Amino acid sequence: MKIRLPAVFLFTSCLLLFTSHLSAQDLGPQFKKIKDGIFVYAGKPNESNCTIILTQEGVVLIDSGNTPLDSQAVMKAVKQLTSQPIRILIDTEPHTDHTTGHFVFSPPAAIIAAEGAGESMRKAYDPERMKKLMAEPGEMGAAAKGYHLVTPQIEYRDKMTLNLGERSFQLFYLKNVHSEADTAIWLPKERVLFTAASVGVKRFNNLRPFVSIPDTLNAIKMMKGLNPEVVIPGHGEPGTVQILDNMERYYNLLLDRVKQMAQQGKSLDQIKKELKMPEYEDWGGKDRFPNNIEAAYRAVKLN
Ligand SMILES: [Zn+2]
Repeated sequence: MKIRLPAVFLFTSCLLLFTSHLSAQDLGPQFKKIKDGIFVYAGKPNESNCTIILTQEGVVLIDSGNTPLDSQAVMKAVKQLTSQPIRILIDTEPHTDHTTGHFVFSPPAAIIAAEGAGESMRKAYDPERMKKLMAEPGEMGAAAKGYHLVTPQIEYRDKMTLNLGERSFQLFYLKNVHSEADTAIWLPKERVLFTAASVGVKRFNNLRPFVSIPDTLNAIKMMKGLNPEVVIPGHGEPGTVQILDNMERYYNLLLDRVKQMAQQGKSLDQIKKELKMPEYEDWGGKDRFPNNIEAAYRAVKLN
């Protein structure tokens, strides 16, 4: 026994070292632990979220941070959490506030996105914007050094299942909810759902001309059907299914009111002038309310 004691001690200390449970606070104020091995790097107000998911066979990232500075903070946290590599990066959408940081992680990470994401990124690519970012003095310029456009190596159509270690990731293409290539990600065992930017948190979404409120309501219905415990939107505080409920209620009310006014013979311009939704006075992004009315008008005119 005497001989074995030091060995036991050594073994225990090693175990403690390897499983030393870093809390989200150890990683920095922007990190929030969602479940064991799942950490969200919450963007500052209106910035995108980035999530680190540890598995026994390496790390999966959901999105890559709002700016290269955020991507570098996430990379630092991953190194604190594990010695394993980031194997997969899943894009919830192709816009720059989710994908500029690709170059920080890939290689070695393989980037997966919905079909059309790469094309969308190439079209939006603005070398001048990146030159300016790299020339910025201080931290931002330093974080952006080495930037080059990296597009997803893998694009899926409609649905995809990914298994890594003990975890499973179900990817669902969301049609016409925000960008050309939006992906919801569902972890069935953990009951964690990533909604992409299909929903906002107390915030009006920017509804581009191709975005459809009925398609968004269908996406919300599908995601609610998964029965998530934790809901992590593309932007805004992670929460519960309430995030989906709130957005669903808002769109239904908006559709009802716009429909009523259209039936009274009012033009789109009149509706934009007259429609008020005092229930959402505390929501952000009010400059987007006119394009929300336009999307609702498109939807009710189709029926
Ligand atoms: Zn976006």
